[in-house]
Amino acid sequence: MKALDAGAWPEQYYADGIMKAVVVHETGDVDVLRVHEVPRPTPGPDEIVIRVAACGVCTLDVATRSGIYRRGVELPLIPGHEISGRVVAVGAKAIEFLVGDRVATTQRFAICGHCRLCRNGYEALCTQRRFLGQQGFRGGYAEYVAVQVDNVAKVPDEVSDEQAAIAACAIGTSLNAVRDVGRVSMGERVMITGAGGGLGVHALQLARAAGAWVLAQTTSPDKADLLVRLGAHEVLVSDRGEDFSDRVKKLTGGDGVDVVIDNVGTPVFDAARRSLATNGRWMLVGQLGGEFVSFNPAQLFLKNQSIMSVHSTSKTQLEDTLALIARGVVHPVISMACELDQLPLVHRSMEEGAVTGRVVIRAGRASS
Ligand code: ZN
Ligand code: ZN
Ligand code: ZN
Repeated sequence: MKALDAGAWPEQYYADGIMKAVVVHETGDVDVLRVHEVPRPTPGPDEIVIRVAACGVCTLDVATRSGIYRRGVELPLIPGHEISGRVVAVGAKAIEFLVGDRVATTQRFAICGHCRLCRNGYEALCTQRRFLGQQGFRGGYAEYVAVQVDNVAKVPDEVSDEQAAIAACAIGTSLNAVRDVGRVSMGERVMITGAGGGLGVHALQLARAAGAWVLAQTTSPDKADLLVRLGAHEVLVSDRGEDFSDRVKKLTGGDGVDVVIDNVGTPVFDAARRSLATNGRWMLVGQLGGEFVSFNPAQLFLKNQSIMSVHSTSKTQLEDTLALIARGVVHPVISMACELDQLPLVHRSMEEGAVTGRVVIRAGRASS
């Protein structure tokens, strides 16, 4: 373990002793994920400090660590934006929370709280938003993290720490896609791409809960059984890069699907477009890799098809997701819990597509 290079952290972070955290000083291969000792956060006026019980490992973490994703990223950083734990310190104005409360975060640590977007339930899009795990010391690959209260929800007793950690990003984003942006309704035919991944396994359950006929696409044959157990009416195992649209058409009487929930992006773009029925809706949720795509707009508007975007999760969507977990409507799929020093192996497995659902790390568990 390496001690922190002084100077990289704001003064408030020196007040409360040290903690263990994974600090990324430079982007690159998985070995840049090294455990360091860094200052423990103290809360700003409208913040709470959470002892991290669990933190989900997201494909965005992998893209940030490798350097593929750069937008808003400032090094050094502690990755991790899918956090649950107990409140251990409360800022002077953070009156909604008490020390000891069980909480979960959205993907952000700060928003402005008063712009038009913030006031209308779209705070995930606030121009002042700051993403957890993208800048400096605010991330969940650590024993403690400080977060503004606007980005935190209380966790029902029925929901475990591991489940609560992934509620916002892995499940709430899919709730946003299926319910709020996609407006999936009973009897519609929905295809989930990348259905075995952290988003896909939950989008699948939510589309089922909405009453849809669900087609789960995956490139991993060994995930097919799980996808059926989670409620898929059909599982389509395709090769990487395969245009599987003819197979989708066959499974839908020649029509294609009414809704695509796309967690993959560029690698399935052409196949997803050709799989979409006339008047279909296409939710862009995830993007693996950095390649651009090309298409002719007429290919879409002549069939009255729409492309829509789904980004992140509001606090309300997080609260709704936690309630759906507590009521047994959606079952979080967590394949493994691990410790900070295992993160290089976890990132490697994710790059190889070998992870089903989510892996969570339990950085602050030992000190509880
Ligand atoms: Zn260092
Ligand atoms: Zn995430
Ligand atoms: Zn705002």
